[in-house]
Amino acid sequence: MASKPVVEVRRSRRRRRTVSAYRDGERVVVLIPDRFSRAEESEWVDRMLARLAARHTGPSDQELTQRARRLAERYLSEYELAPASVRWVSNQRTRWGSCTPEDGTIRISERLRAMPDWVLDYVLLHELVHLIVPSHGSYFWALVSRYPKTERARGYLEGVAAASA
Ligand SMILES: [Zn+2]
Repeated sequence: MASKPVVEVRRSRRRRRTVSAYRDGERVVVLIPDRFSRAEESEWVDRMLARLAARHTGPSDQELTQRARRLAERYLSEYELAPASVRWVSNQRTRWGSCTPEDGTIRISERLRAMPDWVLDYVLLHELVHLIVPSHGSYFWALVSRYPKTERARGYLEGVAAASA
């Protein structure tokens, strides 16, 4: 990371021990227990920034979830889909994405981080449609094809898969 991000520390009375952090646009929000001292606060902010920098070079899980919700509103509005969560995973070597319709969660392979946004959007929409239609039938593809770059993105991913095979 080139420069130190703007950090917003939020103290919570309900939080007892856990510290968490996420990116929100240009800022990093760090959530800490209210009882932390200033020294503990600064120690944890540094620690969480290092952790985020090591792990994230693009959108956070939170941003990914927001992105998926925007796509659902735009292309699948009549289904009123609101994915519960979308997160990056590093253990998916053969699939670009997966989902669990029962709880509305979606997982996206970390490999997508290195790819263009329009390819990521295609994979997100693909998984969103799976929350409605489990199999890859004609109805499934009719919904996915509402995203105008579907064919192009599928070609891109096939190319990546072929190159790494
Ligand atoms: Zn699929």
